[in-house]
Amino acid sequence: MPARALLLVTLFHELALKGNNRRLFIQTALRNIRQSLSDTPAHCHFVPPMSVRIHAPQELTDTLLQRLRQVIGIDYISPALWTAPSWDALVEAVDLMMHRQPPFASFAVRCKRTDKRFPLTSAELERRLGSYIQQRTGARVELDMPERTFYVRLLADGFYVAVERIPGLGGLPVGVSGRVLALLSGGIDSPVAAWRMMLRGCVVDFVHFHSFPLVSTRSQEKAQALVELLTQYQYRSRLLLVSIADFQRHAVALAPAGYRVVLYRRFMYRVAERLAQQHGAMALVTGESLGQVSSQTLENLATIDAATSLPVLRPLIGMSKQEIIAQARQLGTYELSIQPDEDCCSLFVARHSITRSHRQTVEAFEERLPLEDLLQQTLEQVKLLEYRFPPAPARFAGPSAAAATPATATPSGPEPRGSAS
Ligand code: ATP
Ligand code: MG
Repeated sequence: MPARALLLVTLFHELALKGNNRRLFIQTALRNIRQSLSDTPAHCHFVPPMSVRIHAPQELTDTLLQRLRQVIGIDYISPALWTAPSWDALVEAVDLMMHRQPPFASFAVRCKRTDKRFPLTSAELERRLGSYIQQRTGARVELDMPERTFYVRLLADGFYVAVERIPGLGGLPVGVSGRVLALLSGGIDSPVAAWRMMLRGCVVDFVHFHSFPLVSTRSQEKAQALVELLTQYQYRSRLLLVSIADFQRHAVALAPAGYRVVLYRRFMYRVAERLAQQHGAMALVTGESLGQVSSQTLENLATIDAATSLPVLRPLIGMSKQEIIAQARQLGTYELSIQPDEDCCSLFVARHSITRSHRQTVEAFEERLPLEDLLQQTLEQVKLLEYRFPPAPARFAGPSAAAATPATATPSGPEPRGSAS
């Protein structure tokens, strides 16, 4: 029989605070963990109150860890040994764990007895195991900076012994907070903003506005690549591709260049609001950060916000560009975002847009536009792409199977990409 690995996943402590919602939160976390491993032969079992035990073939351990590090709602992951809840079985597991480790000069034992039926307390277990390990190895106990830490958890189904705690992402499981619609440009900020909302439990739909056929399809391709990457955190995504070229042609004829970015944005919000209603999203999300560029002053944000009655969530509003870039690098979106493209907002605009727009002035321009007709025409041409992770329905085909792939495309989408489909 091939060697089996066991991973103990501990869910994020924030979930423990959720009172009556705790069940829903845990079920959602468990469903997401199962989905993230759905193309592998891994088996997941919930262990009360806040853990998940995962069994899989040993050779998949690295792949499983890589996937689990991307599951939102996990505190940490430990490759572990699992034994019956008896002292003898525990000592046997500790022996085996020591045998697998390189020698160490100092160590600590950290016990947590969640199942109180076992007669020894956590502190007694720590002391007894400490002296046992000391006798076997000659290593000294060192609580502050030990070379090796033995983590022992006693849960309802037995002891778990581990020497590693691999940090998870934390956050609330994707799905517990409802659906939002993120405005995704090809830039650095908006993918980070969308991801931060996923970390707060939102399922994120995406809308990307472009000016095709006035410019190339580059920005659309970037948006697709970004959604493909972000789907690894939420397993299913929808991307709506919307041309605002018609609106731009009209706006250019009416409004001075300095006002156009604000006008484009207000039109985007109007379209996004309709799309949010169609798809069940309760709020819009943008990557705006106060003062970052001229369209992101308080005055302009207020003028833009007035175009929608939906809440506009701006998770990056208080972050500096450096902080946002650091997150984008961590997330892996940075390299995609810095590829050159032709952003629709830079079409026909002034080098310096106005920083203090007045809502009344902007509304006066809009009154001269056939706004409702333009909205309808724009909405009729929306393209929907759907993405899944892991790519269904192929069985696990090794680590290269990790990219999300578009699952369906309506009315006409790209050929499915990625190695496993
Ligand atoms: P980003 O790096 O996200 O593009 P930015 O610093 O370039 O942000 P702006 O171009 O002013 O800022 O855009 C502000 C926000 O408006 C973006 O974060 C995004 O949410 C939304 N947005 C801008 N352009 C588009 C677009 N073409 N499609 C969808 N949303 C957009
Ligand atoms: Mg941009």
